Amino acid sequence: MAAETKVSETKIWRTTVLTLFPEMFPGPLGVSLAGRALASGLWALEARDIRNSATDRHRSVDDTPAGGGPGMVLRADVLAAAIDAADGASASSKDRPRLLMSPRGRPLTQSRVEQLAAGPGPLIVCGRFEGIDQRVIEARGLEEVSIGDYVLSGGEIAAMAVIDACVRLLPGVMGKPASGAEESFSEGLLEYPQFTRPQEFEGRPIPEILLSGDHAKIAAWRRAEAEALTRAWRPDLWAARQVRPGPRQNRPKNTTEG
Ligand code: SAH
Repeated sequence: MAAETKVSETKIWRTTVLTLFPEMFPGPLGVSLAGRALASGLWALEARDIRNSATDRHRSVDDTPAGGGPGMVLRADVLAAAIDAADGASASSKDRPRLLMSPRGRPLTQSRVEQLAAGPGPLIVCGRFEGIDQRVIEARGLEEVSIGDYVLSGGEIAAMAVIDACVRLLPGVMGKPASGAEESFSEGLLEYPQFTRPQEFEGRPIPEILLSGDHAKIAAWRRAEAEALTRAWRPDLWAARQVRPGPRQNRPKNTTEG
């Protein structure tokens, strides 16, 4: 029995965040769906203070950029020590991804979120100041991930976005498992518009077809709306979809393959 408990403990999705502001966590991740799941042990979060790995008298973590320029840069030796200490404290350190939140990184996508949610849970490094020394990115194999083409003052809010997107996909976190399957990006499409009561709002009725009870017609209407929205608002997603059909799209019936 004790051994069984241990296995399930190491198997829960466990994320470690390296930050200069551990007091920011769990923050918004401590409320609502993610918060309830955290409290009930469906996932775990460890926020570690990078400053604990500083070695000098002043516990300094940053220094001026080599070659000059504005701001400060997080030191490679301090951050490497923080990563190594986190790895030493974690059972899943060998196979977990190591992310660095970074505006120049690869933009986060729902499919990367799905992969991260299916794994053991990532180590996430939050930058501050002008960023971090390039050598630690290479030496510790950090995967740079961006949450969009704009610059935040630190990686913490970006890390929270990554964690929130993953946690809602974990088994048992969302009320109905199906509510994740049909939403935006799940098939390379934006989500169709949603309606609920009242039946009429400021003179605007709910589209009649949604009240018809005809599930096939409703599905077709939603599909058409999702496609029209994607084409109009996200031509990039639409184009990618035309090139590489989503997994759920039917293959042509008379394929000669195999
Ligand atoms: N000088 C850097 C910006 C540093 S912003 C540059 O021009 O690229 C400080 C920190 O905030 C970064 O190290 C990163 O961890 C975080 N950050 C800022 N914008 C981000 C974004 N769009 N996505 C992910 N992390 C971001």
